[in-house]
Amino acid sequence: MLTMLKNAILNLVKPSATINYPFTPIPSAKEARGALKIDGPLCIFCGLCSKACPAQAIQVSRADKHWEVDPYQCVNCGACVDVCPKKCLGFEEKYTAAAQKKSNVEFNG
Ligand code: SF4
Ligand code: SF4
Repeated sequence: MLTMLKNAILNLVKPSATINYPFTPIPSAKEARGALKIDGPLCIFCGLCSKACPAQAIQVSRADKHWEVDPYQCVNCGACVDVCPKKCLGFEEKYTAAAQKKSNVEFNG
């Protein structure tokens, strides 16, 4: 009985363990894998990311200086991020909202 009373009093003065979502936004984890992003000007169109992608989501054309990813095909494995020699690939730290229309993410050099 005394333990219960002690816990009840402590719970009245302790800060809340929950977040008032959606009014208080929930911070993303630092390692969260949101959408794939590219720092375009750094890309040398070597195509290593495309070769490493198990989902064949990335298309690279060195001749046209074109880089493109299909976000609906990407499984966010990170293989392309690991092999990129220019370290220009990474993940957004937050997840993107659901889309009504499919579109690829493209970059032209
Ligand atoms: S591996 Fe990096 S530098 Fe090479 S094409 Fe892909 S994004 Fe560009
Ligand atoms: S994160 Fe994985 S699946 Fe997505 S584009 Fe890169 S290699 Fe392909």
